[in-house]
Amino acid sequence: MCVFCKIANGEIPSYKVYEDEEHLAFLDISQATIGHTLVIPKKHYENFFALDEEEAAQLMKVVALVSKKLKAALNFEAFNILNNSGALAGQTVNHVHFHLLPRYTDDGLVMHFAGKKLSDAEFKDLLGKINSK
Ligand code: AMP
Ligand code: ZN
Repeated sequence: MCVFCKIANGEIPSYKVYEDEEHLAFLDISQATIGHTLVIPKKHYENFFALDEEEAAQLMKVVALVSKKLKAALNFEAFNILNNSGALAGQTVNHVHFHLLPRYTDDGLVMHFAGKKLSDAEFKDLLGKINSK
């Protein structure tokens, strides 16, 4: 059983922020910023793609609710929401979760997208691939 399944069933303790029948939110053991919280479905799903649209919508509802709870409680400037799906994307626990990351001035967290501009032809080619699905 994975570590988040063990947290969900109480085998491993956690600092719970929110709980309902199907979801749990708890403080990340490694606080990237103060208030760093994880939101999970209690049921094991490997990553975001294992959720159907309804399950994803339910999970996102809890993400919204818990984000607002954090916002009301903590005096942060800004906020990031992050899901890592797959090892290459940084996923280390293979039970789907969203990171809720309060952001503060000089919090030291670096989230940097080194973007690459495509040519118009490249954009159209890419769009063709995506919109063929
Ligand atoms: P990810 O790298 O997106 O898979 O994130 C996994 C997160 O789970 C990391 O930020 C870890 O610090 C966190 N984590 C791992 N074990 C625990 C635990 N027992 N309680 C709380 N958070 C944990
Ligand atoms: Zn699990």
